[in-house]
Amino acid sequence: MAIRMWNHLSTTDFLEVDRDKTLVLMPLGATEQHGPHLPVGTDHLLVEEVLRRIKPRLDDIEALLLPTLWCTKSNEHVAFPGSLYLQAETMMAMVHDITAAISRSGFKRLVIMNWHGGNSDLLSALTRDIRQRSQLLTFLIDIVYIFMGPTSEQAGVAQGVDIHAGRYETGMMLAAYPNLVKPGPYQDIGSDLKRGRLADSFAGCRYVLPEGGPVRVGWETTDLTSDGVIGNPAGSNAAEGEQNLEEMVERVEAMLREIATFEFRS
Ligand SMILES: [Zn+2]
Repeated sequence: MAIRMWNHLSTTDFLEVDRDKTLVLMPLGATEQHGPHLPVGTDHLLVEEVLRRIKPRLDDIEALLLPTLWCTKSNEHVAFPGSLYLQAETMMAMVHDITAAISRSGFKRLVIMNWHGGNSDLLSALTRDIRQRSQLLTFLIDIVYIFMGPTSEQAGVAQGVDIHAGRYETGMMLAAYPNLVKPGPYQDIGSDLKRGRLADSFAGCRYVLPEGGPVRVGWETTDLTSDGVIGNPAGSNAAEGEQNLEEMVERVEAMLREIATFEFRS
C-alpha cells in the first residue's frame, strides 16, 4: 500500500488495484498572479509540496494521486498578466467529466484537495453533485479555507486578512521553493485591514468583509489591492514557512487517515 501516481500505472495495473477502497486524490491548484514577488504557479506548487511531504507518511493507505489541475477559477485576478482561468461553468463541466471517468474506471472514493480560494464555493457544490451524478463517495479538503481563512490561527500574523500572497504563502514558498521567490524585505507591498485599499474600503465594517464575514461582497482583486497581494508579506521567512507547512502536512495527513476509513452506516 502507498500513494501512487495515477498516470504512472498501465491500464492493466488498474485491474489489480482495490478500487472499492482506494482513495483517488484530486489536487487543485491555480495559475494566477501572486504579487510582484511570487510566481503565478504558487497555488499549484504549494499543493504539490504538501502532497510530496505527505506521500512517505501514508505508506499504509492505498491511494492514487491524479495530476494537479493547474488552471481553475481565478477570474478575480483577470487584471494581472500571467493569470489563467476557467469560467465557473467550464470548470464544473471539466470536473464532472473527469470524475465520471474515474467512476467508470471502477473507483468509489474521491478526495478533492483544493489550494485556491476562488474554487471553494464551486467545490462545495461539486462535492454533492459528483456524488449524485457519478456515485463516488466524495470528500473535500479545502486546504486554503482551513488554513488561510481570516479566523485561522495559522495565519501567522494578527493582521486580519492574509489570504493571497501574504505572509503565510510567502513563508511557505521561501521554505519550499526559495529559488522562485524574489528576495525581501517585502515592506511596501500588499494591502490588509490596516493599510492600503482593504483598510480604506472596510474600515468600520462589522458585517461586510472580504472573506469569512456574515456578508460577503463579490470583489475583484483590484478592489482590494493595487499590487495583487491581499495581506502583508513583510516579515515572511523560511523558518516560519517550514513550520506552517509541517503543521499543515500533519493535519492533512490526519484528515486523510480519517477519510480512508469513513463509511456511512445504515
Ligand atoms: Zn495562492
